[in-house]
Amino acid sequence: MNHPVAVIGAGPFGLSTAAHLRARGIPVRVFGEPMVSWRDHMPEGMLLKSTPAASSIDAPQRGHTLGDYCAAAGTRPLATDEDIIPVETFIGYGQWFQERLVPGLEQVRVVSVDRGSGRGSPGGPDGFVLKLDSGESFTARAVVVATGLSGLAYLPAALAEAAADGPTPSGPLSHSSQHHDLSRFAGKDLIVVGAGQSALETAVLAAEAGARVTVVSRGRGAVDFGAPPWDQPKLRPESPFGRAWSLWALSHHAQPYRHLPAGARHYLVRRVLGPLGAWWLRDRFEGRVAVREVRRIVRAGAAEGKPVLTVQTHGGRLDDLSADHVVAATGYRVDIAAMDFLGDGLRTALAVSRGTPRLGAGYRSSVPGLYFTGLPAASSYGPVMRFVCGTRFASPRLARHLAAAHG
Ligand SMILES: Cc1cc2nc3c(=O)[nH]c(=O)nc-3n(C[C@H](O)[C@H](O)[C@H](O)COP(=O)(O)OP(=O)(O)OC[C@H]3O[C@@H](n4cnc5c(N)ncnc54)[C@H](O)[C@@H]3O)c2cc1C
Repeated sequence: MNHPVAVIGAGPFGLSTAAHLRARGIPVRVFGEPMVSWRDHMPEGMLLKSTPAASSIDAPQRGHTLGDYCAAAGTRPLATDEDIIPVETFIGYGQWFQERLVPGLEQVRVVSVDRGSGRGSPGGPDGFVLKLDSGESFTARAVVVATGLSGLAYLPAALAEAAADGPTPSGPLSHSSQHHDLSRFAGKDLIVVGAGQSALETAVLAAEAGARVTVVSRGRGAVDFGAPPWDQPKLRPESPFGRAWSLWALSHHAQPYRHLPAGARHYLVRRVLGPLGAWWLRDRFEGRVAVREVRRIVRAGAAEGKPVLTVQTHGGRLDDLSADHVVAATGYRVDIAAMDFLGDGLRTALAVSRGTPRLGAGYRSSVPGLYFTGLPAASSYGPVMRFVCGTRFASPRLARHLAAAHG
């Protein structure tokens, strides 16, 4: 069968997978906007939380690390754990990687993926039929879903009430993924909900742009920052995320993860490397951003066009907090139902666990020929799949399996 493999996604995971497949001589068509999550859905001026050692996109050939890019582009070298990566540098790196290793990227949307019709089984002789928003339809022998964060922004039910028509920057409430330029909040009162890096960095960048910002976080002591590299415990093994046995095991030995009980897998994906600000953010945060710790957010509404959050305090009282705008930095949740480009037939055929695809060896789903990598693979291969450094584990394995089964 001469049909190509389709890789849907041109972020770090899609680009890395495509480079590995092409290095094996497999014909591949790759779709998506290069690095769009980083360019349009993260704030301008953001700095990466991951260290340079943990921020390379895995390639089949030498010469394509973040360090190689900095040398080629003549930018400041990024080498030690104390070097912090500006998002603009990382976007430039991703585009450079794409131009060198994934030429011919097609910047069109895949509108639908369905099983091939006729006699064939899924992934069998008839493969998959893909429709593009250019109007073209074609058959692929296998499909790799690497759509990352796209369409998976998560809004808790209590906050969704304040955004009847969906979250939007021009309404009372938005999701953090909807902001690139935070200077729109200059002179305004802003509430940022959340305590992860995205919430804390959004709060700092908005405050530095002239907003009066309050972070609303659940639990006591939820707003915290990691230890700087020079204060990390020396007797624990190094991992791309810091020194700890658990992080080392999850980063370098992700293979057995999928054999853990479902409850443990989902818990670890949420909790490991969970909410914690980067060490270098503390000084910019303290004294500039107010923090309101609450037991929970009860509901969100609007009064005179402004959002109002009703929160339960740790003492059990209900308080109303209002502002000009609320940004929900409440993260992303994988849900196959939200991947609307997958046809109904495919979605119902997929084995899932709490809305996420259940993956076997080589990142294959229960539908032969259909693979998932990046965030949607985290519940099977662990929290490392939420980060760029997960490409080092995922891409060679996925490419090897796909080449053996469908090459
Ligand atoms: C605020 C923030 C900060 C982060 N900081 C870090 C960090 O410091 N270090 C780190 O390692 N990770 C960080 N992450 C996580 C990081 O975003 C992910 O690890 C990474 O982007 C995932 O890459 P990806 O290729 O899976 O998906 P994405 O980068 O989200 O790319 C998705 C791709 O899919 C394409 N696509 C989607 N749907 C379709 C379709 N239907 N048809 C065609 N193409 C489609 C898009 O065009 C895009 O090319 C951060 C995340 C956030 C939100």
